[in-house]
Amino acid sequence: MSERITGHTELIGLMAYPIRHSSSPAMQNEAFAKLGYDYAYLAFEVSADEIEDAVKAIRTLKMRGSNVSMPNKTLVGQYLDELSPAAEMCGAVNTIVNDHGHLTGHITDGIGFMAALKDNNINAIGKKMTIVGAGGAATAIEIQAALDGVGEIVIFNRKDEFWDRAVSTVEKINTRTSSHAVLYDLADLDQLKKEMADSYIFVNATGVGMKPLEGQSVVPDKSYFRPELIVVDVPYSPLETAMRSMAKEVGCKTMNGLGMMLFQGSAAFELWTGEPMPIEHMKEILN
Ligand code: NAD
Repeated sequence: MSERITGHTELIGLMAYPIRHSSSPAMQNEAFAKLGYDYAYLAFEVSADEIEDAVKAIRTLKMRGSNVSMPNKTLVGQYLDELSPAAEMCGAVNTIVNDHGHLTGHITDGIGFMAALKDNNINAIGKKMTIVGAGGAATAIEIQAALDGVGEIVIFNRKDEFWDRAVSTVEKINTRTSSHAVLYDLADLDQLKKEMADSYIFVNATGVGMKPLEGQSVVPDKSYFRPELIVVDVPYSPLETAMRSMAKEVGCKTMNGLGMMLFQGSAAFELWTGEPMPIEHMKEILN
């Protein structure tokens, strides 16, 4: 590192609180070093009442950009100059690019999800996706899937504090994309079974399966799955979940959340450098 960082090295940040647990600094710095980019990526503990000043710092320090995570994803957009269509529709930003003082906010979670599907030879374009979730990860996936041309998006969620966000997501998809979206209560298990029965892909984009909801599943039992259904989890810790174990028993092709995590970082890397992350190298490092 002492040889790599010089007076020319430019800074890229990660602004969130808490953030010390993040694997993004190791991932991004490895990719910059591998391809010879003179950037250093550092995590900064930035809380909601500090994010406005942190954006000023991006401008003052002429940083190349930053990643943004909770609690700042939905707050930071108001301090930027421009938003990508997906970031504007999601109402959230996870990547900032600084082009000579002009700050653009992007959301790469959905881009990462769609890229991870492609990497697994899964092509949902023009097809039907049933997805559970209305939080940050789910909204980003639903909006990007619609922008990319997934034909039909059937969303299920509990009637909790995220429900209104799902209503708004459906309205945006139906008025601003060529995709068609519909929303159902996750408690309506007959409807869930019916929608899953003719879906190409089923996605769990909730925290169910991940601590503290480890061992739980949004799908009650194996009878909801058929071997042709592709079953995807967004949670990645633990990597194996009760839902995907059931799906595998039925013979479904499944995907865990690691690919989305890697490819959302890759999309941010590409926004800063103009070049894709060295994905095969990164997979070796992550394994
Ligand atoms: P969030 O808090 O914004 O949303 C939580 C969602 O889970 C909501 O839809 C909520 O209704 C639902 N939910 C919570 N408890 C539930 C329960 N008991 N039963 C049914 N639904 C329930 O969270 P988020 O940021 O969207 O994250 C969701 C999951 O996705 C987490 O496990 C997170 O770690 C994971 N995630 C993965 C990636 C990745 O790159 N793979 C990226 C972001 C988030």
